Amino acid sequence: MSEAFDYDLFVIGGGSGGVRAARVAAEAGARVALAEEYRMGGTCVIRGCVPKKLMMYASQFRDHFENAAGYGWTVGETSFDWSRFIAAKDAEIARLEGIYRGVLTRAGVEMFPCRAEIRDPHSLELAGGYRISAKHILVATGGRPWKPPLPGIEHAITSDDIFHLEEQPRRLLIVGGGYVACEFAGIMNGLGSQVRQFYRGDQILRGFDDELRDHVAEAMRDRGIAIDVGRDIAAIEKHDGALRVVADNGEVTVVDAVLMATGRQPHTDGLGLERAGIELAPSGAVPVDRWSQTPVPSIYAVGDVTERVELTPAAIREGQAFARTVFGGIATPVDHTLVPSAVFTQPEAASVGPTEAAARAAGEVRVYRARFRPMLHILAGRSETMLIKLIVRASDHTVIACHIVGHGAAEIIQMAAIAVGMGATKEDFDRTLAVHPTAAEELVTMREPVS
Ligand code: NDP
Repeated sequence: MSEAFDYDLFVIGGGSGGVRAARVAAEAGARVALAEEYRMGGTCVIRGCVPKKLMMYASQFRDHFENAAGYGWTVGETSFDWSRFIAAKDAEIARLEGIYRGVLTRAGVEMFPCRAEIRDPHSLELAGGYRISAKHILVATGGRPWKPPLPGIEHAITSDDIFHLEEQPRRLLIVGGGYVACEFAGIMNGLGSQVRQFYRGDQILRGFDDELRDHVAEAMRDRGIAIDVGRDIAAIEKHDGALRVVADNGEVTVVDAVLMATGRQPHTDGLGLERAGIELAPSGAVPVDRWSQTPVPSIYAVGDVTERVELTPAAIREGQAFARTVFGGIATPVDHTLVPSAVFTQPEAASVGPTEAAARAAGEVRVYRARFRPMLHILAGRSETMLIKLIVRASDHTVIACHIVGHGAAEIIQMAAIAVGMGATKEDFDRTLAVHPTAAEELVTMREPVS
């Protein structure tokens, strides 16, 4: 590797994509350094997927306690201690952060716990004015929650803040209808907060299959979440420790906290990319090709900062592919088609492949659907149903999409995604023996299309 530079690779950002790229490049023999101005682990580990899922688990105990009675158990009085949970969650996040550091240390990556800014295509300046040169620079700075500019918006929190609130808000208003909004609506409702959700569109989870969206929304409402669609927030006023939220129709709601889950924006402010000759998208995203290379050949970018697919596994795959291509000698483009994903709502929703509407627009399809009460719910006395849907191309019977709502949806979709990715046909699904009694067996036992 080149001695003309201080490093072969300098990575900015210690999240999922940056850490993977740094480790793989170092293991391939590159001299690698990584700067992270906050905590190692990035959004996923520190203030995203991991703490969110721990909160989700915490919130699901309410269901377990309620279900228990139907199975003959008597559960005594229950209560939830927010501070105790937050401390346990923080200890786990610190443990994971340590693992990330360990991975990089063992791979021989030098870590700088500070901000790094790009000065030109091969040089960077670290906090304190320290200059470094690198043959390649990888931008993996992720994204940050974005709040619309409204009167009183400074009183609203984002998903970054909710993990560290000193007290659990008794009344919470959530604005948005995407992943973060819907997941936190379920979590906070499960933990006992009174939750109201404003979504400006006509149904939450835009971009997902319409039946999936309707199913999730109905189940969330049945669980006590007040979802107002076609509703937006106009202003927030603070009075005596409470927040008066004025909606776009003038209606006022008084709550203890407002969570703005109105999307994220690439974290590129002041990074110096323009100085190096890269024109950013209006959103601030870094433009890249399928090799994650920017128009400036020595600078690459992976993960949320590129706004391709804002999911941890995509960032990891992009980081890995970049390192293999540039340092491993194996040209590895990233395929962003057919990305499975799950929304950890309650009930969970998960999808791979196009929505029914998109599939129909592309050609003739057959739709297979099962809607049923999962076995667990019967003795528990719950009416909530599960939805499993397959979309099959009419011409050759290829299963092109699967949409699931219900317990274990995320776990099931991971396996279904393998079959769909391999081009399995409906006959391949049908030939597979069912695993009984499970909910997932419906995937292989749906005989007649519903449309
Ligand atoms: P999303 O883009 O999913 O949702 C943003 C929501 O905010 C949408 O409902 C959008 O409405 C609404 N919105 C945007 N601007 C405004 C505004 N000015 N006023 C009112 N509402 C507004 O963003 P999230 O922050 O929820 O998530 C970001 C990304 O992170 C996701 O796209 C996903 O890729 C990833 N993520 C993945 C998770 C998982 O895998 N389980 C969990 C959490 C996040 P509209 O639909 O009308 O545009």
